[in-house]
This record gives sequence, structure tokens and C-alpha cells, in this order.
Amino acid sequence: MAMKVAVVGGGPAGLFAAIELRRRGISVELWERGAIGDNIVCGECILDFYGIMPRPAEGLLFPVGQMVVKVINRHVRPVAKYGRLWMIDRRAWQRWLAGRARQLGAVIYEHRPVDRPGLAELCRRCDWVIDASGAPSVSSGLLGFAGLYRRAFSVAWQCEIEGDFSAWQRSIYIRYLPGADRPFRTGYFWLFPREAGRALAGAGFPVGPSGRTLPLKQLLQQFLAGENIGPVRVLRSGGGFLPAARLERLVWDNVLLAGDAAGITSPLSGEGIDLAASSGAMAAQAVSSGDALDYPRRLGEFLAFKTHFERRLIEFIQSSDDQVLDDFFAGIMATGGIFKTIRNLGRIRGLLPLFWQWLNYRPADNPLAGWERDDA
Ligand SMILES: Cc1cc2nc3c(=O)[nH]c(=O)nc-3n(C[C@H](O)[C@H](O)[C@H](O)COP(=O)(O)OP(=O)(O)OC[C@H]3O[C@@H](n4cnc5c(N)ncnc54)[C@H](O)[C@@H]3O)c2cc1C
Repeated sequence: MAMKVAVVGGGPAGLFAAIELRRRGISVELWERGAIGDNIVCGECILDFYGIMPRPAEGLLFPVGQMVVKVINRHVRPVAKYGRLWMIDRRAWQRWLAGRARQLGAVIYEHRPVDRPGLAELCRRCDWVIDASGAPSVSSGLLGFAGLYRRAFSVAWQCEIEGDFSAWQRSIYIRYLPGADRPFRTGYFWLFPREAGRALAGAGFPVGPSGRTLPLKQLLQQFLAGENIGPVRVLRSGGGFLPAARLERLVWDNVLLAGDAAGITSPLSGEGIDLAASSGAMAAQAVSSGDALDYPRRLGEFLAFKTHFERRLIEFIQSSDDQVLDDFFAGIMATGGIFKTIRNLGRIRGLLPLFWQWLNYRPADNPLAGWERDDA
């Protein structure tokens, strides 16, 4: 009998899974609790440092032209030539992906939340279920592993604001939390202008084992007030939870976890769109090739270098004071002249070879390698 797969969730992980399944001729139904693309809380920047993603066919606002990072001083780095950072309109992109999945023959049900009995029914009726419902996932409720998402996670709060961002066009701005204690040192504010009059501004930080947090909304207000961007009007705001430790178990009976449901947002940047898309496609490839049990190993290998690199960088950031961190960014963003760069990078000798590897790294087993622009 022909294989049948159900996908829960119409975010990047679920949509990439559905398209990949249809590209392989597998029958697929996708269940989304709302309308595809609605209620997204996200900076909407694809940080595709490893060149994994196909360029968005729809919803691409612009490739990011420059990155600005501040600890004490502002460091500006042109990044357009790398072509790997994209500001997107996720709603438009996801709706386009859903259209593409439908065109390929996927059946998509919107406004149809899957509850625990519903998931049990999908597990009975389908050969495989790809749970891409975010974190905590629907299956964690049914199977009782929701607590695993709290092993390592970040929290974030974001506002869409109206104001004058004409000076920031095609830039993204990252501001590290000044003077933060060790557990929060990798936390940061962001300002991602989308057009001259509108931007997404947010704040996020990791929550350690103690569960201690910071007043996110208040910090975000202080950040905006301190950046001299003039009066802003908040159009909407919302927050979220970013699970940053890949779950040890990713296959539960005939359920595979992908995207945030697998716990794979970056513990360093919080980025997860690229990881959701690639893990969704990889889960689809695993079930369609009869290799579902190999999916965790393959995903682990795919993420191994990134995980190692980010862990080392996090250790470095947590153990550095503001001045060392500022010098470090001056170094890697080459904003202080060649001698300053060499001196600053010399301070982090252990990281230098890793940085070099990172600059040149491309994962060998990219699940999106065969994807054409038409698919994404
Ligand atoms: C404030 C904030 C800013 C962020 N900014 C960025 C950024 O700039 N760049 C980046 O790369 N990442 C960013 N992220 C992370 C990124 O949003 C996620 O990693 C990414 O959305 C994960 O995709 P996903 O498909 O796994 O899950 P989601 O995008 O969460 O999609 C899950 C889908 O499942 C649906 N669903 C949930 N429950 C059910 C159910 N019971 N039945 C049916 N459907 C269900 C939901 O409605 C949703 O559509 C940010 C996160 C936050 C919180």
C-alpha cells in the first residue's frame, strides 16, 4: 500500500516537509491550527550562514546589506556580497510555500488544530507523522515529554514599530545587553528595519537552569529610548520561547519531530527558520526512504559543526567583559584597521581556526541541496 504521511504545523518545518514528501511522490496531509502565515512572532530574518537555504521565491523583502553590532561601540560590516542574510515577509513566504505544496498535490487543512486524541488518530491512520508544531510540540503533550524543552531555552519579546528608520535601510542591528551577568551575556536586542517607516525590534536572552530571567519588555523600551530613533508607535507585540537543545529522542513510535519541535533553534542567535526548513525536509527524506530511525543521526551530523562552533563562541562571550567583547567584534568585523584586527583576534587564539573553518564551512549532507528556486 502507498505510504501516507501526516504533517502537523504549517510553519517552515511543516511546509518544507510537505513539499519534500510530494517531490518524492508520497501522499501527504498537513494540519495547521490557524491560517498559514498568521500570528507569526519572528524577526523574519533568514540567517543562512551555511548557505543551506534556497532563496525565497516569494516574500523576500531584501538581502541584508550591512550588519551593525554594538557592545560599547558600533561596528558596521557590509554583508551583501555574502548574500546569506535575507529579510523576509514570512507570511507571504509561508503562504507561497503552502501554495507550492498544494500545487504538488499536498492536502492542507487550515483552522484545524490537532489535539491529543487527534494526534493519536493520525498516528493510527498514517504510516508516519511529522510533528512540526513548534515547542512544546503536540506530541510532547500526548507522550509526556514537554519538560524536555526546558532543558535549555531562550525567551524573546518583540514589537513591530512605526518610526523613522530611513538611516537604517537594508541594515540589521544587534545590540548586546550591556553589563549583563554571565548567564545573560549572549542575550541581545535587535532592530530589523523592514522599510523606511517600519521595523521589528526585540530582545531575547537564554534562561539558565536557575530559571532566572530579566524584565524583557522594560529592557526593550530602554533600548529603544537609548537608540535615538525618535518617537515610535507600537503596531503589535508578542513573545516566544526558543528551545535550544536538540531533543535526544526525535522519533517516538511513528512520530518524527522537526523544527522547533525538535528543539533546534540556535542557542547563540535564536535563529530557527533555516534549521526548521532543513530538518523538515530531512524528516521527509528519512520516512520516504524507509530510514526514519536514521533521522536523528543524520540531523545530529548535519548540525554537529554549527553546534560545536556556537558552543565555543558562547563560552567565549560568557567569559568576556564588555570591553573584550567589543574588541572582539571590532576584530571580526574588521572595523578598527588591520593591526587592531590582528591584535583583537589574537586574544581569542583558540577560536581563530574555528572561525576560519566557519567561514569556509558548508555541510556535506544538505537536505535542501536539490531544491530549486521553484520549491521555496
Ligand atoms: C521573538 C522571536 C523572534 C525570532 N526571530 C527569528 C529570526 O529573525 N530568524 C530566525 O531564523 N528565527 C527566528 N525565530 C525563531 C523562529 O521563529 C522559529 O525557530 C521557527 O519559526 C521554527 O519553525 P517551525 O516550523 O519549527 O515552527 P513554527 O514556525 O512555530 O510553526 C509551527 C506551526 O504549527 C502550528 N501549530 C501549533 N500547534 C498546532 C496544533 N495543535 N495543530 C495544528 N497546528 C499547530 C502553528 O500554528 C504554526 O503555524 C524567532 C523566534 C521568536 C520567538
